[in-house]
Amino acid sequence: MHIAIPSHCNKRQTIKVLALLSIILWMTNTTKAVVSSTYFSIDKARIELRYQNSFTAKERAKISYWLRQHSVGLTYLYGQYPLEHSRYIIKKASSGSGPVPWAQVERGDPDSIVFHVNAHYSLDELMADWTTPHELSHLLIPYPGYDDIWLSEGLASLYQYLLPINVNLTSEHQAWQKLHLGFERGRNDIRLNHWSLQKLAARMHETGSFRRVYWSGAAYYLNVAYQLQSLGTSLPYTLLRFKGCCREANKEWTGIEFVRSLDQFNQHRLFERNYYQWLNLQGMPDLRLAYNWFGVHVNAQRITLDSDPKYQQRRLALYHWQPNQIISNE
Ligand SMILES: [Zn+2]
Repeated sequence: MHIAIPSHCNKRQTIKVLALLSIILWMTNTTKAVVSSTYFSIDKARIELRYQNSFTAKERAKISYWLRQHSVGLTYLYGQYPLEHSRYIIKKASSGSGPVPWAQVERGDPDSIVFHVNAHYSLDELMADWTTPHELSHLLIPYPGYDDIWLSEGLASLYQYLLPINVNLTSEHQAWQKLHLGFERGRNDIRLNHWSLQKLAARMHETGSFRRVYWSGAAYYLNVAYQLQSLGTSLPYTLLRFKGCCREANKEWTGIEFVRSLDQFNQHRLFERNYYQWLNLQGMPDLRLAYNWFGVHVNAQRITLDSDPKYQQRRLALYHWQPNQIISNE
C-alpha cells in the first residue's frame, strides 16, 4: 500500500500522520505478515506498538492496555520512562504455553522488546505475567556484555516482581514472597557452587545455570540498594541520575564501566566494591543484612513484612519514586 505524505511534513509530523491512521506499513510476500503500528506517550517518552501479525481489534485493545499499564509501572520507579523512544514488537506465539511464552530485548535505535503473545489469554492473565515487567526493566540500563550478563538479568529479576506493585497488580507481601522464592531457586542451584559467579556467568547457557546467575544478580542490586539507603540515597535515584548522564550514550559497555558510572552518584564506590565481591561469589550470597534493612522476615520460607513505617518507607524507596523521599537510616 502506498500512502502519500505531504512533502513538507517533517519526521515528527510524519510519525503523527502514521500514528493517527494506524497505517499498514508493508506486507511481505512470503509470510503475508501484516505489520502495523500505533504509538502512545508517557510524558515525553514515545513508544511504538508494532504488530507483526494481524490481531483483532479486541486483541489489540487488550495488548495495548496490558503494555501501557506495565510501562506506567516502570515509570513509577523513578518518575520517568527510561528512554525517549522505544518499540514494542508484538508477534503471535507459535509455540509455548502461557500468555507470553517468549520475549526478548533487541538493542538498537531505538531499543525494542519483542513479545510473543498468545492473545487468547484474558487481560488478567496477561497482566499477571512476570515476563513483561522483567523485559521492561532491561530498558533501564544498557547491555553490559555477556560476561557480565548477571548485571543485566539481575536488575530485571529484582524488578519483575516489585514493579507490578506500582500498578496494583500484586500486593507488596506477594511480591516479596516471590522475590524470596526466586533467591531460593538461585540458592538451590548448587551443581557448580565451586565455580565463581564470574566463571559461571560467562558459561551460563552452556551450563544451564540461569537460576544462580539471574538471582545472584538480583541479590547484588538488593544489597547495593540497602547500602545506598543507609547512606541516605537510593537505587532508583541512582538509576535516574544514570539516565540523565549515560543511559543513551552511544557506546558499548563493559560491566566494570557500567558500575563505575553508577558510582558517580555515591561517595563510597558501592557498586564497584560489591561488583568485585560478587564476581568471586561461590553460591548465593547471604542476604540477611539486606532483608533486615527492609524489614523482611522469613520463617519456613514464608515471609512477613515489618509494618513499622520506617521499614515501609525503605521498601517503597526501592521501587516507587517520591520526590523528597526521606529514608530513615537509623
Ligand atoms: Zn532478561
